[in-house]
Parts: sequence; structure tokens; C-alpha cells
Amino acid sequence: MRDQILSHSKMCIQEGGTMLQRGMNFRINPKYSILLMSQRKNAPYQDAIHDDGITIEYEGHDIIKSEAAFPKLEDQPYKTKKGTLTQNGKFANAVEDFKNKGIEPEVVRIYEKLFDGTWSDKGFFKLIDYKYVPSGKRKVFRFILEEIEVDFENNETHIKKLKPHSRIIPSDIKRVVWERDGGKCVECGASDNLHFDHDLPFSKGGSSITVNNVKILCARHNLQKSDKIQ
Ligand SMILES: [Zn+2]
Repeated sequence: MRDQILSHSKMCIQEGGTMLQRGMNFRINPKYSILLMSQRKNAPYQDAIHDDGITIEYEGHDIIKSEAAFPKLEDQPYKTKKGTLTQNGKFANAVEDFKNKGIEPEVVRIYEKLFDGTWSDKGFFKLIDYKYVPSGKRKVFRFILEEIEVDFENNETHIKKLKPHSRIIPSDIKRVVWERDGGKCVECGASDNLHFDHDLPFSKGGSSITVNNVKILCARHNLQKSDKIQ
């Protein structure tokens, strides 16, 4: 479920026991890839949410330390020195296949780090584009992902149009709300199965997302609330 709050170990269990450590994980699951993002000030990469509220720009990753003494001074690589594709290369190739061969876009699940040990499941996205652009004196990859609803029934992946009220809650708002609400459901004080809840759906006239219209709810109160709105 979107905006579910979870520990690192729960996130790994949710992904079938895979130990998630690297930020970019192309096809770590047979049906989708996983990207870990962070918008914290000290984050090593510059990830951003576009103003439309459904598009994420994810920075590619640097050359590995065993191949360069100062990775931040080197162009982000498409291939390793051995000639195999890097994660950047694998994600970029998926975009090329989508654009040039008419293959379905790569489905990507994104988790974001809010604090050490506290993560949020941002849900599923389709990888629609990438750029290889100057950043200071070097070049970096910037991958463009658009939020989707997805359904994995019958061993097939169906990409569905996003519900009109969907909108990504920015990470800085999540961090403020998490601290304000003390990491608990505001209705019952539960500290398990929590989600970030956007108070007023966009379809019902909800305007921009602020800390005032986001709160933490447990799964039970989250469901009760969505029943009432429908
Ligand atoms: Zn509750």
C-alpha cells in the first residue's frame, strides 16, 4: 500500500527476504525493479519530486570506489571497467527499449528513507525517460518515473491509470508529520502498520499538500476513512 511506513527489516521481508542495501536494484524481483531514494539534506544523490506531484526524478549512481579514487569527480558510468552494464546502464537500456521497441515501461517500486531505520513505501512507478546531463564538471544520469497503479494478477503485469486524487507526499512533510505525531496513529496510538494519510483527496478539492493535511494513521483507521469518503 502507498505511503506505508516500515522499518528496514520489514521492507526486506516485504520484498521476499531480499537484503536491500544498494539504491538501484534492476529486476531484483521478476516483475519489477526497486529504487531506494532519499531527499534528506545529507543524501548522496539529488532525487526530486516534480511539481505535478506524480513524477520523480531519480539520480543515477556513481562509479564504484574500486574503480575510481574520487567517484564524485567522475562521470556516472553506463558500463563497468570490465564492460558489463552498471545499474545506470540497465535502467537506461530499459528506457531505450520502451521508447524504441514498444516494450512496456519498466515497473519500479520506490522506497524512501525518512530517517535511519524508518522507510516509506512510495508505491509503483513506470520508468519513462532518462537524461545524461552535466552536473558541475561531470555527467550524471537522471531517471524520470511516473507514479502508476499496478496489478500483478495472473502472472501478468497490468499498468493502470492513477486515481485522480493520488499525489506524492513530499519527504520533508513526512518527516515533520512523523515527529509531530510521535510515530503513532493519531486515532488510536498504534505504532504498527502505519501510513501517511493525505486528509482531503484531490478529487474532493484537496489543494496543495502541507503538514496540516497529512497525518499518520494505522491500517485500520486508514481503511475506515477511505470507506467513509467513497
Ligand atoms: Zn489507529
